[in-house]
Amino acid sequence: MRAEIVSIGTELLLGQIVDTNAAHLAEEFASIGLSCTHRQTVGDNLGRLVAALQLALDRADLVVAIGGLGPTQDDLTRHALAEVSGQTLVLDSRLEAELRLLFASRNLAWVDSQLSQAMRPVESESLPNPNGTAPGLWIPVGSEKVLIALPGPPRECLPMWTEQVVPRLAVRLGKGVIHSVTVRTCGIGEAVLAEKIVDLLEGVDPTVAPYAKPAEVHLRITTAAASPAVAQEKIEPVLNQLRERVGEFIYEIGTRTLQEVLIDELRDRRQTLSVAESCTGGGLGARLTQVPGSSDVLMGGVITYTNRLKTQLLGVSESILDSVGAVSPECAEAMAVGAKDRLQTDWALSITGIAGPGGATPEKPVGLVYVGLAGPKGCQVRECRFRGSREQVRERSTQAALVLLREALQSD
Ligand code: ATP
Ligand code: MG
Repeated sequence: MRAEIVSIGTELLLGQIVDTNAAHLAEEFASIGLSCTHRQTVGDNLGRLVAALQLALDRADLVVAIGGLGPTQDDLTRHALAEVSGQTLVLDSRLEAELRLLFASRNLAWVDSQLSQAMRPVESESLPNPNGTAPGLWIPVGSEKVLIALPGPPRECLPMWTEQVVPRLAVRLGKGVIHSVTVRTCGIGEAVLAEKIVDLLEGVDPTVAPYAKPAEVHLRITTAAASPAVAQEKIEPVLNQLRERVGEFIYEIGTRTLQEVLIDELRDRRQTLSVAESCTGGGLGARLTQVPGSSDVLMGGVITYTNRLKTQLLGVSESILDSVGAVSPECAEAMAVGAKDRLQTDWALSITGIAGPGGATPEKPVGLVYVGLAGPKGCQVRECRFRGSREQVRERSTQAALVLLREALQSD
């Protein structure tokens, strides 16, 4: 099935907002076997909007219009959809009642322009929007094609896609349910991973789609079947293949983040963790404390940005700092050992490096980072050479520290 996205809004054309909705939806398309053949962006102008939607409808089976569903003058999507689908726009009294109730329950002043949100093309179905006021629209055009309209705000648009549109598409395609499982990997690059599973990536049912996340690659396995249980049965052999070929890099099959997996693992072992950070300035601690209940495991940490505090708080010897400097494997090791001993934890992670853009020397370029781990069986240090902006180097550094801990826990 060919699908096309039409993003609507002058703000998008002017570059004032970035079209994250289209990027997310395009990813979603691939995972359920829709092929995204074109994308268009069009401003808030009725004539041009109609032309864009008409073009999309001529060449795709499924057209997803994003934005312009609100109650203001520049929200023209409904009118354009009515025109393109050849349907009249009617006031849906049930939607009107729901809308009035919503306003009353939130103590919001009612203005009649809100009524536009209860208008819909006569043969359309409205799609509930639990996070906003404007419902979406599902508009069959002839027997073959469908026009869909979703509101612009991402926290409304994306859940509506998953909760409202995907199940309807499954029915339309005669597929029952569309079910997917996400396999999360770390410590392996996308290209290397893809090479190991090239045949699986070419599979048609289930599909396996890679998503490169910051410093991780996720694989989404998707299939359609009569029930979730049958779908899971179809997915299982693919999971087994992945375990066999790249199992060492898989940290989660499901929804947990890397930090959640690590916190859970350490909690199961009744072990504790601390952190000692330099160039990430607390970023590693921040990531770990994103996890509710992390205080069971993470005792705390120190940010030792200067050499003086590396010595005072962690006991890094002055001779290390004088001879090889703060960005060195020796310093990373001393920081981790110092944190483990002084903060009295089973494990301690350390990070020291050059995040840039300044601070580099010929021997120590921007992006040179050492991550250290002190544990029950000793200490290890990994050298990383990252590229990218200051923020990217810092983010990759926290990731490298977590990956180091994961590997140690695996082989422990
Ligand atoms: P509202 O009822 O909020 O007016 P709407 O459906 O009319 O919703 P728009 O007016 O087009 O949507 O956009 C509302 C806001 O949603 C924008 O200001 C922007 O912050 C966000 N938004 C719109 N389109 C996109 C998009 N394609 N990607 C990301 N954000 C978007
Ligand atoms: Mg609007």
